Parts: sequence; C-alpha cells; structure tokens
Amino acid sequence: MRFPKCAGLIVALAIPALSADHPSMTIRILDQAHVPSGRIQKMERYVETTLAAVEIEVKWIECSSNIEACKAVRGRNEFWLRILAQNPPDLNTGTELLGLTQRGEAAGEIPCVNIFYPMVERTAKKLHAEEVLGAALAHEIGHMYLGNNREAHSLNGIMSGVWVEREFEEMDLGTLQFTREQGERIRAAMAASNRRD
Ligand SMILES: [Zn+2]
Repeated sequence: MRFPKCAGLIVALAIPALSADHPSMTIRILDQAHVPSGRIQKMERYVETTLAAVEIEVKWIECSSNIEACKAVRGRNEFWLRILAQNPPDLNTGTELLGLTQRGEAAGEIPCVNIFYPMVERTAKKLHAEEVLGAALAHEIGHMYLGNNREAHSLNGIMSGVWVEREFEEMDLGTLQFTREQGERIRAAMAASNRRD
C-alpha cells in the first residue's frame, strides 16, 4: 500500500532555520543528462532540507549558466555533481545503483558525486517516487563526508545501503534524513576540511 503523496507541503514546512555559524558546502552542477529545470530545483530543495535538518547549508553553482564560477579554483567543501546520461557499470549486485561518489582522496582524484540519471528516472517511475534524484544526491553527499559503504551506511534513514518500500515512502513524506550522529560526523569532516592546508 502506498501513502498519498504530500511531500511538497511537508518538505516546505520542515525546513529548519539555520544559525549563523553553520558550516556550508558548495556544489557545482554539471548536468550531462539535460534534466528538466523543475527537477533540478526539486532536487536542490530536497538536499537543502535534508542538510538543514543537521544544520548544514548548501550552495549551488549551475555550471551551464555560470561557466566562470566553475572555472575558478575549488574552495574547501566544494565539489562537483555530475548528472550522467548513462547507466552505471554492471556490478552484478542485483541492486540498482543510483549514484557513485569519488571522495577526492586518491592522488589526482577530483571530489565528485556521480548520479546515473537513467536509473533515477527508472526508479522514480517504477515506484511513483518524485524525490529520488534529491534523495540519491543527499545519500552520496553523505558518502563524500562519511566514507565508503561500510563506514557510511546505517540501517535507517538516508544512509540506508539498500532502499526498499519504507525508504521511498519516507522520501515522499520528507522524513528520510541523516541521523543526528551522521550530521555530527559530516560537520566534523567539513570543519577538518576547512582546517586542512
Ligand atoms: Zn551508499
């Protein structure tokens, strides 16, 4: 059974006010899948709401309309979002991979969240879930700061490793969130990144 959709209203009402000293991350959007602008806005609102709940601000740079800003040297806690028009590599896991994050830790690796848009579309259609793009991005941002699957995944919430019916329903209700502990770890990792030489 599926709950009636009411995500827009609940999400809009649930954006908490941020205090003045909250940490902030900047995401450079490279949209290679030509996602409709309404979807991009929905994605941005979902991610903003999810991060605001753990007192983190997110700023966006759309590279298609702001080429100069995307040419500038990347700041601390600034990384790329690549929305890909291709399917993910076949990992033979029996699950559908929506995104993959390069944390920029290996030499020469650029910090980048990759989203496989055809998979997002397929999942959204199959499950009548409208917030998959934003939720998948929020999950991958979690990996950017919390680490690999073993370090980052939890049984509940946005960092669940495998999303089933419950996660998609929580997504629509606007309650698929980071835990308080995950929020603390992300803020600590952001602070460490700000201190790095
Ligand atoms: Zn994951």
